[in-house]
Amino acid sequence: MKVVTRFAPSPTGYLHIGGARTALFNWLFARHHRRHGAGGTFLLRIEDTDRARSTPEALAAIIDGLRWLGLEWDGEPISQFARREGHAEAARELLAAGRAYRCYCTPGELEEMRAKARREGRPVRYDGRWRDRDPALAPAGVAPTIRLKAPSGGETVVEDLVQGEVRVANAQLDDMVLLRGDGTPTYMLAVVVDDHAMGITHVIRGDDHLTNTFRQVQLYRAFDWEVPRFAHIPLIHGPDGTKLSKRHGALGLEAYRDMGYLPEALRNYLLRLGWGHGDAEIIGDDQAIEWFDLSGVGRAPARFDFAKLDSLNGHYLRRADDARLLELIAPRVEKIAGAPLAPLGRARLKRGMGGLKERAKTLRELADGAAFYARSRPLPISAKAAELLAGAEERLNRLAAALAAEPDWTVAALEASVRRFAEAEGVKLNQVAQPVRAALTGEGVSPPIFEVMAVLGRDESLGRIEDALNKNTVAVA
Ligand code: GLU
Repeated sequence: MKVVTRFAPSPTGYLHIGGARTALFNWLFARHHRRHGAGGTFLLRIEDTDRARSTPEALAAIIDGLRWLGLEWDGEPISQFARREGHAEAARELLAAGRAYRCYCTPGELEEMRAKARREGRPVRYDGRWRDRDPALAPAGVAPTIRLKAPSGGETVVEDLVQGEVRVANAQLDDMVLLRGDGTPTYMLAVVVDDHAMGITHVIRGDDHLTNTFRQVQLYRAFDWEVPRFAHIPLIHGPDGTKLSKRHGALGLEAYRDMGYLPEALRNYLLRLGWGHGDAEIIGDDQAIEWFDLSGVGRAPARFDFAKLDSLNGHYLRRADDARLLELIAPRVEKIAGAPLAPLGRARLKRGMGGLKERAKTLRELADGAAFYARSRPLPISAKAAELLAGAEERLNRLAAALAAEPDWTVAALEASVRRFAEAEGVKLNQVAQPVRAALTGEGVSPPIFEVMAVLGRDESLGRIEDALNKNTVAVA
């Protein structure tokens, strides 16, 4: 069998984290089968039939988000709205085959039906009154809808690849509208006609769509079409098990990009959010494609956890190429430093990246920690750094003299030299290192100071120490 999956977002809002995970699972499933010789196509269908709520901005955010996350789809995105004629045509075919019928109920009549059901405490269902009624009795001036002649007895059973067997008594489902009075197709009709036309073999989506599936299966059967396999994945919850809120991470994908997460880290995180393979946590793309299957999807809602995402992101940051990280943080660093990144600052950042990325969990943290390399003298001194400098001036002055005489400006030589100095002063290394750090970076934390000195070079390092001693600094707002 050739596997074909799809991601079918509605462009009515941003691409949220749950949607991104659905897209990832569809992408991985297709890629896995492609690798193992079963075709493996991943399609993108934009469900833009709700004209009032679909916006070009939301569409652009979805496309950008998927590209950023690295989930390339095959072929062009398919617009559901553009296919509306085909949907209507399919409804008319069912009508001609006697599997659907025209319903001439007026809005008033339907409202009355609903009110009656509510009064009698019954579920609101269309009562099928036009199912067998002679169309010759149609009232004048009513544009009919087309409804499915759904099976009235028996059950509709779905063998869901995640949820297992799920079933509903057909008596609980009424004859759904396929084509509205104004000739526009309903969502249920459009999804089924499109999935069939696109040759979708596996529908992998959030389990909020599970109830739609019964109706969709009825529709496949009415068309005599092969029913695809379904896999309904549990929704993402907050860390406390409640519905995901903004505070918990229910944000658009671009918010994660802005917070400084790497796409490969988010892919790994989203993969583990609801899917597992033994106790593996760090799963790169190649391994993910190899391992991904629907039997690894859990049935319980996954819980979103920023701490875990941070720790994965830190892992991928440490492995990321330094030149790439430099490009990724450059705009943030420029913003923090308040000036365009000069070639000198760029070169320092590149040399210092190895030490910087060890200490950051996000690009935001990386940029915060890196900005001191990009700044030109004199530096702003943070409150913490000012505290470290207070009272240490004389020792710093003596150290500056020792460093000025250092012939070999390398990490190893600088370290030996500073250690010797601390010993001679009869103090711990930290008592020297901390004020130097404050002078060199304007901060209380940084990569090891020997590394910082080596990256900054002799003149800049001695100049920054001199600035600190002369109180030649920029006030921090
Ligand atoms: N457009 C639907 C949504 O955004 C998805 C429908 C489907 O996957 O079948 O939730």
